[in-house]
Amino acid sequence: MKETKEMLIDCPVCNEIKTAESQIKTEKIPYFGEVMETSILCKVCGYKHVDIIALDHKDPIRYEIEISKDKLSNRVVRSQSATVSIPELGIKVEPGSKSEGYISNIEGVLNRFKDGVKQALILFQDDEAQTNAKNTLKKLDKLLKGDLKADLIIEDPFGQSNISGLEVKKRPLTKKELSKLKSNFTIIDSNKE
Ligand SMILES: [Zn+2]
Repeated sequence: MKETKEMLIDCPVCNEIKTAESQIKTEKIPYFGEVMETSILCKVCGYKHVDIIALDHKDPIRYEIEISKDKLSNRVVRSQSATVSIPELGIKVEPGSKSEGYISNIEGVLNRFKDGVKQALILFQDDEAQTNAKNTLKKLDKLLKGDLKADLIIEDPFGQSNISGLEVKKRPLTKKELSKLKSNFTIIDSNKE
């Protein structure tokens, strides 16, 4: 079941009138619930933003799966509020103002990490950063080829993310884990004056 609405809006970046195509899709995803995917694409300045908003609210959750070649096509839903990491490779993506939600698969997540590491190669020119980034890229390629094993972990304080597959370990986040996670949202601590 899919529903799509499209309209032209003024671009929030270059301010041109009605040059940005805005699309809102709602879709029901098995094991995940109803999600809303919003995208904006400006044909003048190229501004692009995609976001996934889960319409069903859930409890804080942690997913873990060992990446292997036969699991590359397992579906991954990453909401804006989720932290995605591969601890063996020392890489982690935390929620931030620019973080996007997406629906992809494990292969797609690895490719997103590759893009991030490639950006780091351009931004950080010192030898140590270059060596680290190149090593990480090699390991990501090995994971994609099935020559290396590592765990993919998604921690989501709003329980809106998901990894599909029978081998996925799924459990609630502990309070301690929750307190360490970054979130896009301001948490008001009622114990403080
Ligand atoms: Zn624009």
